[in-house]
Amino acid sequence: MITYDYPFKSYEVPEGFRGKPEYDYEKCIGCGACAIACPPNALNVKYDKENNKVIWSFDCGRCIFCGRCEEVCPTGAIALSPLYEMAVRFDYKNLKEESELEVVKCKICGKAFTTKRLINYAIERMEVAGAVINEEKIDYLHTCPECKKSGAVEKFISEEHFGGKK
Ligand code: SF4
Ligand code: SF4
Repeated sequence: MITYDYPFKSYEVPEGFRGKPEYDYEKCIGCGACAIACPPNALNVKYDKENNKVIWSFDCGRCIFCGRCEEVCPTGAIALSPLYEMAVRFDYKNLKEESELEVVKCKICGKAFTTKRLINYAIERMEVAGAVINEEKIDYLHTCPECKKSGAVEKFISEEHFGGKK
């Protein structure tokens, strides 16, 4: 039988221990992958229309330390840490974290549809892949999925495919 001196001495957690998820705001692009993957909805990424911001939020009180957020985060902005002491005093709000991200509006319809950081991230990835970034690509990245879709339909029924007849 092994016993430990905790809480008189701090407890050394084993490798791979799944403690409190730690969030790095500087790395977050607001993609929402963590919120989609989080089974108990401890994470949320939502558009705040009133303030025109994307709000990333985490409620540690709901977290089950499954590590799905870490697995899916494309930038390493959230990762489980060795931290296991998470009790807070008096106020449940102390278990919550929140951050704000700048929003981008569609250049065609004007609807907010993504974050500025997500677009910058896409440009970075394209550059890494050796793609040439021109004005057309930048415009495309600043177009919401609905306008891209209607643009694609327009193109399909244009001259190229139907001899100019719409
Ligand atoms: S560890 Fe699991 S439950 Fe906790 S925030 Fe990440 S995905 Fe959600
Ligand atoms: S998956 Fe990572 S980058 Fe995307 S919103 Fe969550 S923490 Fe931010």
